[in-house]
Amino acid sequence: MIISRQKEFNDILKNLAENDIFIIGCGKCASKLHVGGEPEVLEMEKKLLTSKKNIVGWNVISSACNIKSWEEILSQNPAIGKAQALLVMSCGGGVSVISGCAEIQTYPALDTESLGGTCCEETVKEQCGLCGDCVTWMYGGICPVSRCAKSLLNGPCGGAIEGKCEVYDRPCGWDLIYEKLKKLKKLEYLEVFVAPKDHTRNGRRTI
Ligand code: SF4
Ligand code: SF4
Repeated sequence: MIISRQKEFNDILKNLAENDIFIIGCGKCASKLHVGGEPEVLEMEKKLLTSKKNIVGWNVISSACNIKSWEEILSQNPAIGKAQALLVMSCGGGVSVISGCAEIQTYPALDTESLGGTCCEETVKEQCGLCGDCVTWMYGGICPVSRCAKSLLNGPCGGAIEGKCEVYDRPCGWDLIYEKLKKLKKLEYLEVFVAPKDHTRNGRRTI
């Protein structure tokens, strides 16, 4: 699941140069996180109308990052054809896919934070840093790239206080890794030196 949060409304508004706006929500991650599903789209519509914008229509498409064709979106709500601009309430992936198809200005309404998931109904953030070279098996299934603030691969920085990271207000990722490896009886993995990441394997470099 892609973790995202809504931008401040005033930040959205100050960038929206056009007047006739169509709002697109996303039925997947953004809906589950309550940042881009139908209730949030309707709330956005209300706020934009109050700010004197003309909302020509809205649609929550099943998955903003996976659209078959622009024609399919048009057929779901032809009012989109009257829009001067789109406001997309999805992660950056969805915004990019939609703006790649649309021939009008497209604005993101959300900020994409991390790759996470849900566990026992709870949303968990920053589970993967998209390094393209997954090594979590050596760390008890806990990603050191995303769960350690310094992305350290060979042990903690030593700055944690009572299990709290010295950089962010959250548990030290290396504390979690140690406890998990201990539980799994795999502490010997801590003896293995892990070479720096090969950043050419990072997918972002191949586009
Ligand atoms: S090691 Fe790399 S691919 Fe695996 S979870 Fe961490 S960032 Fe993602
Ligand atoms: S305190 Fe822990 S999580 Fe924070 S940077 Fe140091 S090792 Fe990483």
